[in-house]
Formats: sequence, C-alpha cells, structure tokens
Amino acid sequence: GESIGGRGYNFKVVLLGEGCVGKTSLVVRYVEDVFNTKHVTTLQASFLNKKLSLAGRRVHLSIWDTAGQERFHALGPIYYRASNGAVLVYDVTDQDSFEKAKNWVKELRKMLGADICLTIVGNKIDLQKEQTVDTKLAEEYAASVGASHFHTSAKLNAGIEEMFLELCKRMLEQA
Ligand code: GDP
Ligand code: MG
Repeated sequence: GESIGGRGYNFKVVLLGEGCVGKTSLVVRYVEDVFNTKHVTTLQASFLNKKLSLAGRRVHLSIWDTAGQERFHALGPIYYRASNGAVLVYDVTDQDSFEKAKNWVKELRKMLGADICLTIVGNKIDLQKEQTVDTKLAEEYAASVGASHFHTSAKLNAGIEEMFLELCKRMLEQA
C-alpha cells in the first residue's frame, strides 16, 4: 500500500463475485451501516472510502464495487490495477456462485500475481437453513489458495467488520 505520511496507509480493495451475491450490500453495510437502500447504479465501477485505525496506524481503504459489469465479465484492467486486497464473494445458498468465485481467484492471480491479499466470503449466512455450499470445503479451498475465509450477512451486519479488519492486518504486514 501507499504510505500517506506519518503512520497512515492507503489501500485499494476490490470486490469480486457473481451478480446478486451481495457485494454492494456488503460494502454499503460496512461503510454506511444500512441494508437494502436503493443505491443509484452508475455505469462505471465506483468506490466507497472507509477510515480505520489499526495497531496505532491510520488506514484509508478505497473499496471498489462493480456496477454489474461482472455479469458480462467486462471488468477492465483499471478495476484491478494496483489492488492491495480482494474480497471474493459467493452466496452460501448458491453453489454455482462458489464455483464462479474460484474462477475469479484464478483471474486475479493472473492479473495481479501472488502479492495480493485475498479473502473469500460466503455471504447471506442468515439463510443458513438454505445453505448449500459446504463450509469445510470452502475453508479448505480458501486455505489452498492462501486466502482467508469468512461468513457474513449484510442483512444482519454479521462478520463484516471482522472480515475487513483481518484483511487490513494482512495488507499492513505486506506494506
Ligand atoms: P451484488 O450484485 O453482488 O452487488 O448483490 P447486491 O448487494 O445487489 O444484493 C443482491 C440481493 O441479495 C439483494 O436483493 C440484497 O438485498 C440481497 N442480499 C445481499 N446481502 C444479503 C444477505 O446477507 N442476506 C440476505 N438474506 N440477502 C442479502
Ligand atoms: Mg452490486
């Protein structure tokens, strides 16, 4: 990450995953603490900023979200460029979204190499009764690609702070 003077750091984090897994809901919940608001969809990717403090260091996160281009696999290189971290989101009730997340991991490694900090997130864990993606297999897969694995619910605001904090810790270790 780029140092912003003193003990401050700028990190870029990209959100990736199939449409409808809850990427926008996660970032909006994290940054604005709301769920299911009608957000204006722009044609281009957008980002939200979050400031936090970790181990006495100031961290400034730019969290990039798509405007639905993932549906067409039309995310350009600018979306990925100079990312420090990536959050690959799947829906725990949708096995296909988990398989697609694995494809995003391959694509990311190809575009950005081994240095990027990865987190794989099973979202919508409030729908646990309908969960089809096996937790243990997901954790094993994440470990096999050097990623962390978290369960979240944007609806219930569960697991999100922890997930971003842990990602920040790893990005700081590399900074
Ligand atoms: P994106 O296309 O990946 O950005 O997904 P969105 O954030 O637009 O969410 C897609 C749909 O899933 C919306 O109807 C959300 O309300 C819903 N959703 C998102 N997160 C959760 C969650 O944690 N639990 C439940 N039950 N629904 C969610
Ligand atoms: Mg979205």
